[in-house]
Amino acid sequence: MLKKTHALFGMAVASLVFRGFRSYEYIIMTGIFAVISDLDSVIGLKHRGFTHSLSFAFLVSLMLYAIPFEGYRLAWLSAAIGILSHLFLDSLTRGGVPLYHPLSKKRHSLPLVAKHVRYDSLPANLFFILVSVILMAKAVGVLV
Ligand SMILES: [Zn+2]
Repeated sequence: MLKKTHALFGMAVASLVFRGFRSYEYIIMTGIFAVISDLDSVIGLKHRGFTHSLSFAFLVSLMLYAIPFEGYRLAWLSAAIGILSHLFLDSLTRGGVPLYHPLSKKRHSLPLVAKHVRYDSLPANLFFILVSVILMAKAVGVLV
């Protein structure tokens, strides 16, 4: 999916998870973590490699859990939600994600859905943007 779709979807999931905390900082932080997996090619790594794996999500979350930001004790949860939401959306595309990298570089995707969906598919991106807006509206109580 596109970076804007990843960011919005991650923030939508976070808005539900952090609803009781009334903290928009965590929601914004999750949106940032939802796009960091795609910065792999910017720093010279193979696209959809390690940064698109469960071990990357675990490692980043563990680092933030071990060394929490001052005042942001749940930053690790933002990272986990953001990166896992990224993996979920990319697994819906035909490129898939190497969930178990570095143990296996085999890419996983949902076969029935992902076979025909490119990362830049307009209908797929619009669908998840719409889903994100609905989730956020539910989180703030606009939708019951
Ligand atoms: Zn990606």
